[in-house]
Amino acid sequence: MLRVGIGYDIHRLVRHRKLVLGGVHMPFAKGLHAHSDGDVLLHALCDALLGAAGLGDIGIHFPNTDTRYKNISSLKLLEAVNCAILERGYKVSNIDSVLIADSPKISPYRNSIIKNISSTLKIKSAQVNIKATTSEGIGPIGSKAIASYAVALLLKVKRKH
Ligand code: MG
Repeated sequence: MLRVGIGYDIHRLVRHRKLVLGGVHMPFAKGLHAHSDGDVLLHALCDALLGAAGLGDIGIHFPNTDTRYKNISSLKLLEAVNCAILERGYKVSNIDSVLIADSPKISPYRNSIIKNISSTLKIKSAQVNIKATTSEGIGPIGSKAIASYAVALLLKVKRKH
């Protein structure tokens, strides 16, 4: 049985924050405003995985009012989401994603992002695809904020116990 899920996230770019995307710290003048590390790519991915498994969304699992998640690495959230879907008897078939950022350039970090995601989800790098695009400077998404979309396809490997 196949299950598909979609995720979307956006965070504002602000000064005095580290920029972390796909678990990779990118030297940049601004970072993303959030309760956690603001990793929009991983948040969109968590929502895609949770959605595919019928497990709600990231806000239900990791409320931004909970001090345990303050500045937490979103790789830890992704790891917890992976545990939740494995427990439900699913495994990841593949994931695909789009990052929308006018800058910095994502391509130099692409392989590191794929490595972070595949090793956290314990899947092959060929099962993870990352795409990056800009908004061509025509709107706030990409310049004032960074956004991400993700989809995940899960396979049911065992019955829920
Ligand atoms: Mg978020």
